[in-house]
Amino acid sequence: MEVIPIIPRGYCYGVVGAIQLVRRVAADPSYPRPIQVLGQIVHNRHVVEELDRLGVVTLDGPDRRQLLDQVRGGTVVFTAHGVSPAIREEAARRGLRVVDATCPDVERTHDLVRRLVAEGYEVLYVGKRHHPEPEGVIGEAPERVHLVESEADLEQLPPEVEKRLRSGPVAVTTQTTLSQWDTQRVIRAIQARYPGVEVYNEICRATQTRQEAAVEAAREADLVLVVGDRRSNNANRLVQVVREVAGKPAYLIDDLDELQPQWLRGARRVAVTAGSSTPSEITRRVIAWLKEQQPVPAEAGGGESR
Ligand code: SF4
Repeated sequence: MEVIPIIPRGYCYGVVGAIQLVRRVAADPSYPRPIQVLGQIVHNRHVVEELDRLGVVTLDGPDRRQLLDQVRGGTVVFTAHGVSPAIREEAARRGLRVVDATCPDVERTHDLVRRLVAEGYEVLYVGKRHHPEPEGVIGEAPERVHLVESEADLEQLPPEVEKRLRSGPVAVTTQTTLSQWDTQRVIRAIQARYPGVEVYNEICRATQTRQEAAVEAAREADLVLVVGDRRSNNANRLVQVVREVAGKPAYLIDDLDELQPQWLRGARRVAVTAGSSTPSEITRRVIAWLKEQQPVPAEAGGGESR
């Protein structure tokens, strides 16, 4: 089978920095034990398992305030997705040793939002509900920063917020790992509704380049496999942009054992990419296995199992 390894793919600098930081902390006995990460350090179970083997505890759950309440002492690590000021203040108030693995690109969005709010803007934030990154950024000023997931959310804004959006300066900014095509559509809807809105697109460069490369390679391929965790927003967005922008089939797999042979029926060229939190050895394993496969005609039954 012909395999197109898509470049760039996999780890971005924010993920590398976060993982290296936690590895250093785990190896340094001066950090009080236990070392506890407030959520998954990056959204990938292989990474979480590696840290577990190093003795680092991952506290997992949707509400980081509740996770912080489970911490009785030791060191607490903030993940690459960033945290709200309320979480920072609470960790400081309780005298915990804090390690901050927030990606610099996410920090930049926090800085931007703080500045806009201080200058009197009402801010619309395009992002995914229940993801830790929007929770952290919106936490900078929950009364003045409003989550918009899709155009429909614009109709649901409370009347007092709508009034401020109509009367005062308005800015729109974004989560770092969204589909750039989707986001442009939502931003256009916001511009139509609030003319004069200032736009600060914060989709990070790693996300943009991986999406563009995936769409381009997909045009030459019969199928795209995205290696990544189900919880990884950027990995899910790679699947989405291949399907919606390139119009090609795409599947998300966490590891080789999730690859279903029937997906490959009729495929001669398979492109492979990976989310920015996927360890490269997992992706290499998938690529190596695919290279050993013979193309299977679309009408063939069965399919080789692994
Ligand atoms: S995907 Fe972008 S924002 Fe997220 S960790 Fe990587 S560089 Fe940072």
